[in-house]
Amino acid sequence: MTLSPYYEPELETLSQRQLKALQSERLQHIVRYVYDNNAQYRQRFDSAGMEPNDIHGIDDLGLLPLMSKEQLRDNYPLGLSCVDKKTLVEMHMSSGSTGVPVVMPYTRGDLEQWASCMSRCYRMAGVEPSDVIQITPSFGLFNGGFGFYHGAQNLDLFVVPTGAGHTRRQISLARDFKTHALTGVVSYATRILEQLEATGETLPDLKVCMFGAEIFSNSMKEKVCSGLGVEAFDIYGMTETGGVGTLGMDCSAHDGLHVWEDHYLIEILDPKTQQPVADGEMGELVVTALTREALPVIRFRTADLTRIVSRQPCQCGRTHVRIAPITGRLDDMLIVKGVNFFPVQVEQALMSIPGVRPHYQIIIEDDHGVKDVRVNVEVDEGVTGFMVERVLKEALGFSPKGDVFKPGELPRQEGKAQRVFYSQK
Ligand SMILES: [Zn+2]
Repeated sequence: MTLSPYYEPELETLSQRQLKALQSERLQHIVRYVYDNNAQYRQRFDSAGMEPNDIHGIDDLGLLPLMSKEQLRDNYPLGLSCVDKKTLVEMHMSSGSTGVPVVMPYTRGDLEQWASCMSRCYRMAGVEPSDVIQITPSFGLFNGGFGFYHGAQNLDLFVVPTGAGHTRRQISLARDFKTHALTGVVSYATRILEQLEATGETLPDLKVCMFGAEIFSNSMKEKVCSGLGVEAFDIYGMTETGGVGTLGMDCSAHDGLHVWEDHYLIEILDPKTQQPVADGEMGELVVTALTREALPVIRFRTADLTRIVSRQPCQCGRTHVRIAPITGRLDDMLIVKGVNFFPVQVEQALMSIPGVRPHYQIIIEDDHGVKDVRVNVEVDEGVTGFMVERVLKEALGFSPKGDVFKPGELPRQEGKAQRVFYSQK
């Protein structure tokens, strides 16, 4: 017997009207809740000249002040918590480039909410109880390992908690325990694939990969899927929203990521004017957490750029809005020779060349203020720097330098891959 593809069928297939009513009710509640339980929120709402009674539904969302990552940092460690510390049961955090971490505390209810969101994702990827799931993000402060774990426990999956690194051992365990689903970052899957290709081994039981935390191109995904013989899903969530999977994932139609709209209200805003953009246009994703207890973000500016793919019911039967995979982060945008572009566009162009390997570096060379781009990429025999340069020029509209390397020549990293490097001349 095949299981239902839904974890919470009624909630995942609510009509647009029902969803909107539920969101409106939850928004009124959460705004009142944070106002009553945290002085920082109260003060920010007061300064914006509004009070919870002004919010009658989701159409009033724009009255609420926007929230930035800096506000979360400024309130390290628990300044924005809305609950008594005694009710907290876990925390995770991310450390950005500035060094001050963003902390997300969890109540028991928050962990259950996280596990439900993750369970929906697992079910959407066709993972069933007793399926073996290998969790390759580390079990630590970063939310990845524990997020996949809480969801897997909730669904009675068989967890192989490898954590990060030890690629040889990962492969042996995947083979010996017949791992069905692998979770982690896409760049780590390319490491596993590389090892398998080097030894001629295969993982015939591996059917599903769930990739998060890194921005990756469609052509990178296709390379990994065909190499490993898996179906890959793009799972989304971040420390501030409560971790991996909280925001959603793509379904087997692979036509946009379903956002769990009963838990999160999203807006796509023009990053400059902070006004909503039309559906289909690119903008910054802004998130309001409707059901979290310890630290529900309200109109949080994620800095992630995306667009609405569709608000229509999906062929999978789910009604929750679909957004495009993240194109880039506001602070990742590169400007060279007057052209704005994101690292993922370079990746998409590179991976479209047959014989190009999924290992590359983008080097921004700064010669007394004049910037240039050099792209180093591993290739099979027959692919030349000229071929790489031609494709990059077509994709980006200017001419970066392209240098080719033999497989294995560029350095490898564990965890999230660093793709962009800076060099001063
Ligand atoms: Zn769908």
